[in-house]
Amino acid sequence: MSAAESYRRLLAHLAEAQTLASCASALEWDQETAMPPKAAAFRAEEMGLLARLVHERVTHPSVGAWLADCEADPALAADEDAAANLRELRRDFERATRLPSSLVAEMSETSSRAMEVWKEARQKSDFALFSPWLHKQIALHRQEAACYGTPEGGEPYDALLEGYEPGMRSTALERIFAPLREAIVSLLARIGEAPRKPDTALQRARFPVPAQRAFSRFIADRLGYDFEAGRLDESAHPFTSGMGPGDTRITTRYTEDRFLDALSSTMHEVGHALYEQGLPKSERWGQPLSEACSLGVHESQSRLWENQVGRSRAFWAWALPEARRHLGGELDRHGLDEVVGCANAVEASLIRVDADEVTYNLHVMLRFDLERALLRGDLEAGDVPEAWNARMRSDLGLTVPDDARGCLQDVHWSNGLIGYFPTYTLGNLYAAQLWEAAGAAMPGLADDVAQGRFAGLLAWLREHVHRHGRRWRAPELCRKVTGQALAHGPLVRYLEEKLRPVYGF
Ligand code: ZN
Repeated sequence: MSAAESYRRLLAHLAEAQTLASCASALEWDQETAMPPKAAAFRAEEMGLLARLVHERVTHPSVGAWLADCEADPALAADEDAAANLRELRRDFERATRLPSSLVAEMSETSSRAMEVWKEARQKSDFALFSPWLHKQIALHRQEAACYGTPEGGEPYDALLEGYEPGMRSTALERIFAPLREAIVSLLARIGEAPRKPDTALQRARFPVPAQRAFSRFIADRLGYDFEAGRLDESAHPFTSGMGPGDTRITTRYTEDRFLDALSSTMHEVGHALYEQGLPKSERWGQPLSEACSLGVHESQSRLWENQVGRSRAFWAWALPEARRHLGGELDRHGLDEVVGCANAVEASLIRVDADEVTYNLHVMLRFDLERALLRGDLEAGDVPEAWNARMRSDLGLTVPDDARGCLQDVHWSNGLIGYFPTYTLGNLYAAQLWEAAGAAMPGLADDVAQGRFAGLLAWLREHVHRHGRRWRAPELCRKVTGQALAHGPLVRYLEEKLRPVYGF
């Protein structure tokens, strides 16, 4: 068989695996938005079966044989697209073949069941219910990390981190996180002593949920989200599912007295969805070139639209009249300065997803440190509430009143997403660095945003980030697009420049 024929068969085989995986995505979306509670046990079986079928397909011995044929061929090596696909497929194959099917199925089924228990535990604020499941998740993830082997220059945690942020290491994260943490502490001190405080009365104003729904849809549409290729629904934990060509779904959540949170949540998921809708899935289904570069880069797209765009004065100059048109009443009594101040207020909070842009990163660093300790065996699952509460006190000065507002707040550990949290702060870092580059490339960017014109920004992101998929690893993509390696500087500059007029420091 020629190498070209091997490459064709390899891609066709993996496109089918991707289609099978998209069936699991559809079931996952259903589980979060519509599934009745009594369906949970059977759904776990369905998910376990699909995970096993996908795993068997991507680890089939033919994949290894086709890959070896392709890698020996100089013509494919010289073809830039094929070379990038083959590099990433080799990485995926190596990772997938190290896990036995039985472990993959057990992890998938455990996650489905643990999520159901976590929902109940969070509702009752009863950590003891969830504790054995967290213990089991950690044990399974230790096994998983051992199967992969510790990456060079790393620790077992890095084997899991590698699954979300290829090439990243805990020690490299520490190097970026340490100066960021220092800058955040200094910024919080200046905010604490600032002469002005934003008026946050608006945060407590009530707006009917149907009106908020309509406003969220309006904003999503104006930002460029394609509703013919997606849906906007509601779930306890908002998420985006880019399940296939022409199908990228998002969810958000509304409460009457938190309209800014609902809007942020919608804009965040729209950012993820614009990335998914901008990947060349129709042309390259199943190929790495049509997949997201890394979770950190994915998060940068959501953060950029949520924060750099959605909390800017320019955005609200356009969006406030639109918000008044949709939400009416109460909003007529609040001016632009007040809304911008309110959207950018910095205040330590118990809940990560409600946290402001500054303290958010402290929430992430707390989880990163606890996860590493759990994986190393320095921390037992049962001791997590105590460790969590101690860090909340020392980092944010807050007393955690119950575990629902403490260590039970996030879905990730029940869902088996261990090693995932650092990608949130990486997303903030990439977003700020990309935003600086976009501003330098488009001097009229703020004016466009102030007119409600977002097509130029979206086109820039499509051109420089979206259309490339996994052509380059995240650190290389960052250098190519911004001319610099990832650093804490752009995020700190962005936060200081924005918060200076709000707080008057
Ligand atoms: Zn996100």
